[in-house]
Amino acid sequence: MNPFRADLHCHSTCSDGTLSPTEIVHLAKQIGLSGLSITDHDTVEAYPIVIEPCLQMGIQLLVGAEFSTVLNGSSVHILGYGFRYDNIDIKTLCIKHTERRLNRNLSILNLLAKNGMPVSEEELTAACVSIPEDIARHTVGRPHIALAMVRKGYVATVQEAFKKYLSDGMPCYIQGTAITVEETIEVIHGAKGIAVIAHPHLVHDRQLVRKLLTMDFDGIECYYGRFYPQHHREWLKIAEKKKWLVTGGSDFHGSIKPDIHLGCSWIGEEQFLAIQTRLHQMH
Ligand code: AMP
Ligand code: FE
Ligand code: FE
Ligand code: ZN
Repeated sequence: MNPFRADLHCHSTCSDGTLSPTEIVHLAKQIGLSGLSITDHDTVEAYPIVIEPCLQMGIQLLVGAEFSTVLNGSSVHILGYGFRYDNIDIKTLCIKHTERRLNRNLSILNLLAKNGMPVSEEELTAACVSIPEDIARHTVGRPHIALAMVRKGYVATVQEAFKKYLSDGMPCYIQGTAITVEETIEVIHGAKGIAVIAHPHLVHDRQLVRKLLTMDFDGIECYYGRFYPQHHREWLKIAEKKKWLVTGGSDFHGSIKPDIHLGCSWIGEEQFLAIQTRLHQMH
């Protein structure tokens, strides 16, 4: 019998992952995970697909998504958990993101052309095709643009595309219309879900961290990706002090981020139950 482990952060082909939602569930079973949340960027389209296989395989599924927001001009990711995937306000927020991304991606393509690296809309679409092909790519973002740049030979790797051109502050980066942290938390709470600060380990601006810690979150992602116990300690202390829920996950994306494996970060049964209990209290 495996000890209880729940990975509450990963991405499927519905956003910028390379495994389909069903493939993630099979992999989760194979590596012995007991709990799972597929937190695609700005979409919940994986859920109608995975509810049945998770039931069959005895994996406890927590509905979730990773929402893109902007705070003081910086990009901040918020994890939302426990709402219904068909909640109308969650759907509306996701549609707003799709529209935001359409405009932003076109602006990034314009910038690439100006920098002598034209990528057509068709070439971007081709870079978004997922296998199996019947699963629509609902969220198109910079990783797909990076992939198209690799295919056109402008850069050798997706990482190089980010490092030189697409990362925040780089010459071909555009933020696009901002959706605020407050608005996102409000939608999550309105849908009876919990709002969690995603990977605080990656927020290097301490002022931004301090600001986030004053906001109306319910939890913080203390265990993340390939970080070590000493990196988790700081966030666990904050969670304890603020009586926030503790979450954790790998941020698995499949082969586009080959060194991050599903289940490399997780929470145990007690922390998973605390989340479930809080969600029950809200309903
Ligand atoms: P977007 O949502 O379009 O703004 O793109 C952000 C996504 O790009 C993140 O969620 C990551 O999956 C990916 N990403 C960000 N920085 C890097 C990087 N340096 N190398 C590879 N992927 C990255
Ligand atoms: Fe991503
Ligand atoms: Fe993120
Ligand atoms: Zn993520």
